[in-house]
Amino acid sequence: MRTWEVIIIGGGIIGLSLALALRKRGMRVLIVERGEPGREASYAAAGMIADFAPELPPLLLPLAIASARMYPEFVHELQDESGMNVDLRDNGTLLLSAHAASGLGWKSESETQSGLEFVSPEAVAKLEPELKLNEHVAFFRKERSVDPRALTAAAIQAAKHREIDIVSGNPVEGVVISAGRVSGVSTGKTAYSAPVVVNCAGAWAGSIPPCQFPTRPVKGQILAVIGAPVLRHVVRGGEVYLVPRTDGRILVGATLEDAGYDKRVEPDVVQRLQQSAIEMVPALRMATLHKAWAGLRPGTADGLPILGETSTGGYFVASGHYRDGILLAPITAKVMAQVICGEKLEYDLSAVSPLRFEEKQLAMG
Ligand SMILES: Cc1cc2nc3c(=O)[nH]c(=O)nc-3n(C[C@H](O)[C@H](O)[C@H](O)COP(=O)(O)OP(=O)(O)OC[C@H]3O[C@@H](n4cnc5c(N)ncnc54)[C@H](O)[C@@H]3O)c2cc1C
Repeated sequence: MRTWEVIIIGGGIIGLSLALALRKRGMRVLIVERGEPGREASYAAAGMIADFAPELPPLLLPLAIASARMYPEFVHELQDESGMNVDLRDNGTLLLSAHAASGLGWKSESETQSGLEFVSPEAVAKLEPELKLNEHVAFFRKERSVDPRALTAAAIQAAKHREIDIVSGNPVEGVVISAGRVSGVSTGKTAYSAPVVVNCAGAWAGSIPPCQFPTRPVKGQILAVIGAPVLRHVVRGGEVYLVPRTDGRILVGATLEDAGYDKRVEPDVVQRLQQSAIEMVPALRMATLHKAWAGLRPGTADGLPILGETSTGGYFVASGHYRDGILLAPITAKVMAQVICGEKLEYDLSAVSPLRFEEKQLAMG
């Protein structure tokens, strides 16, 4: 009978990256995935490695910056082990702001700290000839992007290569707890045993009993166009962002919707996204809609991820990465492997601990 030291619930980019980090430490790992690995939020994402954004919670910045720095090595290893290309691009991002530097909440001080460089309209015309500024000012920032579908596919391949077990097709219905400690998971059809369980179930993480932390789905509709003049940079505007891929596709995203677990794509929303993209790059009028899809970001009430051990011994969580799970995958894998293996922690994780929800409940009760 096969035995495992760690069971990971959920085969998205977070579960896969963590499985690889634990396997490298010699642990026997099983991933239990409800559907097909890598087909939920990690499949829907645009792939911006944006470690600066006005909406990124300040408490998350140290982890975000560290993770962005880890990306080239993270990708190198995955490409090496999988033989796949994940389209890591480092042409940088043009951020458009409606009201000079203050428009997106950037103060001149944070402008320098965050690596933003003002770009004159003449320079923008040279960098991205098809981009229309429409009263906006532009800033350049060194940022990377990746193709999250290729990244996740490479992580699945690398996991197989490293003999990480993956079972798919049945949801985990509950985490099994014996004498106050975790002892495995149950899918209803069968049970798997391990002394450590990590909940990496994305937007669904909070609904797996014993439900010790809340997560909520935040829907994002997004599309890809083809046949347009090629953009070199990621462009982030007020309404939409544009993320070019090396194969010529340009992604246009994304909505932020409170729609429960609904993943339907609405034609009027797709049209609105396309229209906003055309306002930024009029030549996109010539582009053809390649595909539109929707995904569910794992959101939390305070906008921070949930990383660490719960009050049940051996039961850990790595979820709630909201809009930044692709960016945060390498650092999540690193810090969670450190926590699980009892290693010295490089970062103070108290702000992202799952215990913050239990403490709140106690205070209210
Ligand atoms: C439109 C859109 C654009 C985005 N753009 C970016 C971006 O540019 N940059 C960025 O950094 N992030 C972006 N994100 C966010 C990013 O996609 C997520 O934060 C990240 O993918 C979360 O990864 P995950 O592994 O936690 O979740 P998921 O990829 O959703 O994986 C969770 C897995 O758990 C499985 N699961 C759920 N319940 C169970 C169960 N009971 N039993 C077993 N398995 C279960 C699911 O089937 C799924 O495979 C975007 C998201 C969306 C929707």
